[in-house]
Amino acid sequence: MSYQSFNPATGKLVKSFEEITDAQFEQKIAAAAACYDIWRKKSYAERAVIVNRAAAIMKAKVDEFAHPMTIEMGKRISEARGEVEFSAEILAYYAKHAEKFLAPVKLHPTVGEAHMESSPIGVIFGVEPWNFPYYQLARVAGPHLMAGNVLMIKHASCVPQCAIAFEKLWIDAGAPEGLYTNLLISHDQSDAVIEDPRVKGVALTGSVAAGRSLAARAGKNLKVSSMELGGSDAFIVLEDADLEHTVKWAVWGRMYNAGQTCCAAKRFIVVEEMADKFLAKFKTALAALKAGDPLDEKTTLGPLSSEAALLQLLQQVDDAVAKGATLVLGGKRIDRPGSYMQPSILTDITPENPAFRQEFFGPVALFFRVKDEEAAIALANDSDFGLGGSVFTMDAARGKRVASQVETGMMFINNISWSDAELPFGGIKDSGYGRELGNMGIQEFVNKKLVRTAHLEAPV
Ligand code: NAP
Repeated sequence: MSYQSFNPATGKLVKSFEEITDAQFEQKIAAAAACYDIWRKKSYAERAVIVNRAAAIMKAKVDEFAHPMTIEMGKRISEARGEVEFSAEILAYYAKHAEKFLAPVKLHPTVGEAHMESSPIGVIFGVEPWNFPYYQLARVAGPHLMAGNVLMIKHASCVPQCAIAFEKLWIDAGAPEGLYTNLLISHDQSDAVIEDPRVKGVALTGSVAAGRSLAARAGKNLKVSSMELGGSDAFIVLEDADLEHTVKWAVWGRMYNAGQTCCAAKRFIVVEEMADKFLAKFKTALAALKAGDPLDEKTTLGPLSSEAALLQLLQQVDDAVAKGATLVLGGKRIDRPGSYMQPSILTDITPENPAFRQEFFGPVALFFRVKDEEAAIALANDSDFGLGGSVFTMDAARGKRVASQVETGMMFINNISWSDAELPFGGIKDSGYGRELGNMGIQEFVNKKLVRTAHLEAPV
């Protein structure tokens, strides 16, 4: 039984779930394929009724959705509530804008007339991570269902209650059978889904290793895919930054969701003139966080998602130190039940240290001191990842100049306000390809068809 809810705040098993059999899978995919035939013919307004209803249910039952998230992966309850509300907003956003985003686009050939039209392509298979158990699902459900596709989702094995709750949401919203299907399946079964000719596209959010595996299989089967993978985002602090403002974002950017965010600030790159002041304040602010029950509103530091995640991160820190890094804060598990880690800062990380290129998925900040702006940009770009990044400076024009030179899919100036329904999200290099959210997000799994009318004689 690989689908299990473990409460990482207590270390206790809450509930286990059986994986489905191959016969059950066949019944589910047949239902999804049959549903596609009906759903693709619905108007945008008809689809919007279901999607808006799902959004309204989430908004009306914030606590009911938030609670299992906190129990299964330890998200602090205030963050969990915020995630439920944001997920509902994403659904409502696509219900409102899908028709406009996918409207025919007139082209201007020299002879005749032409347009591009957008149509759905079929059953899309989504594989999603545990760190945002609903937001990740809303990011695929909103756009792709409104586009006329249907979805089959394999969620992470540690959040089965959230996965089941999101499937029930669609049933409660009145969706036809097969529109949204949760699959409690193994990795081997996931391979079989990608191979299945009824499945037309693959959307993964997860690790680089999973990306390589799923993208390769999708490619072999010539299926379109989008890959939202890991990151090691630079947080650049220039000498003219507003220190108070910057440190607040540094703490939030590293510690939100207990540091388990793909586009979290992970590498703090600070110019010499500001380095000591920044480090001192950052250290004090991180050290002040209080570990506690994530269901308690007053808790400022929740557990990691699982014991395995904690052990892996502790090992990464130990290895980094063994290869020459200096621990200036934390680095150990917190002495209490559950999978809690001290907020930590590592410095003196040379390019030869494996930590230099790794993603630290938890409350561990990598701190780098650089000579100037140019050196900060060079270090930011010396990464296999290219998801997001940020730059802090009082000079907006300078911020934009730096942002343009950092090789990532997203850059933020004087903030790290990562995600809005209307803004595209995604990366380059090992952070993957494709975009979710905004207008771009709905274009990933649609057929862009050229239609041309021209009264021309056939060439002889
Ligand atoms: P993960 O191990 O790759 O898991 C993500 C999902 O992929 C889970 O559903 C997992 O299922 C599944 N999976 C993994 N290997 C698979 C395989 N070979 N075949 C089929 N399914 C497979 O990632 P994670 O460690 O849980 O999540 C954190 C990672 O996701 C981080 O690297 C983070 O940066 C990234 N992330 C990226 C974004 C983004 O938008 N770019 C957003 C959030 C997270 P099981 O649980 O059953 O293994």
